[in-house]
Amino acid sequence: SRSVSARCEHREIISEKNPSVNAFVNVSPRPASLRKGPLSGLTIAVKDNIATTTLPTTCSSDMLRDFVSPFDATVIRLLQESGADIIGKTNLDEFGMGSLNVNSIHGPVRNPFDPSSTLEGRSAGGSSGGSAAAVAAGMCNAALGTDTGGSVRLPASYCGVFGLKPSYGLISRWGVVSYADSLDCVGILASELNTMQRVFNSVAKYDSMDPTSAPTEIRLSASNFASKVMSSKGTTLNGLRIGIPQEYFPKEVSPDILDRVRGVVTQLKERGATIIPVSLPSTSYALSAYYVLASAEASSNLARYDGVQYGSYVKPGLDTDKTKTAQIYARSRATGFGPEVQKRILLGTYALSADAFDNYFLQAQRIRQVIKDDFNRIFRIPNYFSDSPCHPNEISPTIDVLLHPSAIRTAPLLTESRSNLNSYVQDVLTVPASLAGLPALSVPIPGPLGNVGGGSSHSWPIGISIVGQWGTDDMVLAIGKALE
Ligand code: GLN
Repeated sequence: SRSVSARCEHREIISEKNPSVNAFVNVSPRPASLRKGPLSGLTIAVKDNIATTTLPTTCSSDMLRDFVSPFDATVIRLLQESGADIIGKTNLDEFGMGSLNVNSIHGPVRNPFDPSSTLEGRSAGGSSGGSAAAVAAGMCNAALGTDTGGSVRLPASYCGVFGLKPSYGLISRWGVVSYADSLDCVGILASELNTMQRVFNSVAKYDSMDPTSAPTEIRLSASNFASKVMSSKGTTLNGLRIGIPQEYFPKEVSPDILDRVRGVVTQLKERGATIIPVSLPSTSYALSAYYVLASAEASSNLARYDGVQYGSYVKPGLDTDKTKTAQIYARSRATGFGPEVQKRILLGTYALSADAFDNYFLQAQRIRQVIKDDFNRIFRIPNYFSDSPCHPNEISPTIDVLLHPSAIRTAPLLTESRSNLNSYVQDVLTVPASLAGLPALSVPIPGPLGNVGGGSSHSWPIGISIVGQWGTDDMVLAIGKALE
């Protein structure tokens, strides 16, 4: 059948392209048989921090180099029950920490989108760089990633594919290796929105194994609000109110990206949408608050990798002022974790220490609340979880979705990716929606036509993000379709 041949084809494309792209770290053998279901005929790649029993789950870390999970993550089970062919596991930044997919024992991912064929080696973005590159290179129909602070949206934007970070709690995290639990979301990457919607429908289900999984009634009530906004629309966007947040255009955003955002805004206006400038005044604090909170949660989550309960064991040495156990812990952790992960653990442990707790951790929590309030003040749809009285707000007009660039630039050169501060800045536009748990879709916009490398073709793609109130994922996807 056609679907079987498509599957063979994807495995062939992987053999051909993966040696240079480095998106996959393990490929599954062609399955003898698959269930019939809504995802029949689709090959789906899975980020290597999602537990699978048939392939290792390394998190791109020496710590888990040989780890094979005794159970499958809920998302894996749901994909299999829906008939998908799970084609392999994809490269990532170690434990999801990074924005360029260069912190990995498997080596960096190389962005397969190459308009000029100069093979200059650009980053695929991170941390779900392998998932984005696999989709962009045509090695699979869709991929799962994880997004804690932009790790699906940023690589989607750099590679020119769609990337969805759903509302927090819609997709189960059972079997997904924790980085920062209060922020971690499983996300989807695809080159077509119809495929993304099908995968989303199969995996966005209540799961009793995940204590933060949103119960079915709550999902329905949030999406009912959104369907009221969308119901009368059909193919037009008449009456849809789109907010452009002024704080999401910092001076670092490249002029080329601004031009393309203008183009998209014009397109949406022509479809009948109303464009409204809005303000989210606390945006500039989001990045610092994110790195304090994410590192604090990571330092606690990663404590389990001590070489005994979990992680690669390194035997004790001859150090006489430490017990044997302390030596095993220290040596296993010093060897097993890469430099970026060690840095986050130190930062997070410090933020949670008695001396720093008030000034760092609590302060960051307060900022998180202020950022949530900013969003709730401008959305016309109320936030299901907010107890502060919702709207209407007399000061600023309310909107249905926000629109802004997903990133401040196009894919950086792999050789540029050395400076760390530079890589943290990549997340400035994606972390606010993570802190607030909101759904965000990055829509790929092709670069302008130009003469690159002697031939006329599109230059590097950018991403435009559509952000909605909690639970309005279907509306966000529907608006994405207007731009597809
Ligand atoms: N770049 C961010 C970080 O390193 C986001 C990572 C993510 O979303 N997993 O924390």
